[in-house]
Amino acid sequence: MRIEKLLPGVQKNVLLKNYTTFRIGGPAKYFFVAATKEDLIKAISVAKKLKLPFFILGGGSNLLVADEGYKGLVIKIKNQKSKIKSTNQKSKIIEAESGALLSQIVSLAVKNNLSGLEWAAGIPGTFGGAIRGNAGSFGRSMKDVVKTVTVLKVGSTKSEVRKYKKKDCKFSYRESVFKKKPNLIILSAEIQLKKGKKREIQSKIKEYLNYRKETQPLNFPSVGSVFKNPIGKSAGFLIENCGLKGKRIGNVKISDIHANFIVNLGNGKAKDVKKLINLAKKKVKNKFGIDLKEEIQYLGLF
Ligand SMILES: Cc1cc2nc3c(=O)[nH]c(=O)nc-3n(C[C@H](O)[C@H](O)[C@H](O)COP(=O)(O)OP(=O)(O)OC[C@H]3O[C@@H](n4cnc5c(N)ncnc54)[C@H](O)[C@@H]3O)c2cc1C
Repeated sequence: MRIEKLLPGVQKNVLLKNYTTFRIGGPAKYFFVAATKEDLIKAISVAKKLKLPFFILGGGSNLLVADEGYKGLVIKIKNQKSKIKSTNQKSKIIEAESGALLSQIVSLAVKNNLSGLEWAAGIPGTFGGAIRGNAGSFGRSMKDVVKTVTVLKVGSTKSEVRKYKKKDCKFSYRESVFKKKPNLIILSAEIQLKKGKKREIQSKIKEYLNYRKETQPLNFPSVGSVFKNPIGKSAGFLIENCGLKGKRIGNVKISDIHANFIVNLGNGKAKDVKKLINLAKKKVKNKFGIDLKEEIQYLGLF
């Protein structure tokens, strides 16, 4: 049966560059916006039925999409409900769907005088994407606030909804069980935040945002840090020390401001980003004997 019949609203040949913060990437053969949890589950079941590869797209802020695009179904998550659940005098729980923007959750926290997520201000992308990659900054990460994560476990014959407690999420630096097992699709999660003072929460956020403005190339499209920091080292420092700051290939370059950022100068190509990634890996290996590992994810053939 045709996909258009099974999944009303599915689009064809949608350019993914319009859905990534890098503004890079070719077309998805099929593209579907899942506005609700039910839409998301339906889209995955249709892909399974048609034996079509599928990919869950959040904010596209940690993603390098091939210039040739992706020959499967891209499911863009837009299930965005969020609410505050009361607990006790000292803390509250926010429950949100995976497609909610992380910034939306930070705003909800501020509005309700909740502290613990200030570090996340300025990190683009979705709540689900942040949990999967255990996003973090300023020494904090999602693992510090997550209480439970509800996933769709996609099996070869049937899929089921499961609730993971924090300890089962196996969080570590930019890692989680959800990253290791791509058949676990995050539907929603609960985070626990402490009650705090609005003025203090807002001033911390301001301080963190100012630091980002001063140290990151925010005036060009990028995907944030390209590589994970090796234990006890800074990937940016290692790349900079190989003389690669400002190195340009085609219309992309290693940022002059922060060497772990690659920026798109306009119409940049994924193939050129990949060349810069390979060059940085090679030079850092030769000079320091360290293997840099990508923090970013790839979609399509490289
Ligand atoms: C300017 C800038 C600054 C940044 N600063 C930081 C920072 O300080 N710290 C940090 O950690 N990151 C940072 N990032 C990277 C990025 O914002 C985070 O990694 C973010 O959490 C990715 O979320 P996303 O929704 O955009 O994921 P996407 O890029 O859409 O997807 C990333 C991966 O997650 C998967 N995925 C997405 N949603 C789900 C889901 N619901 N279930 C299962 N899998 C899913 C996708 O399939 C893909 O493999 C920065 C990026 C930019 C552009």
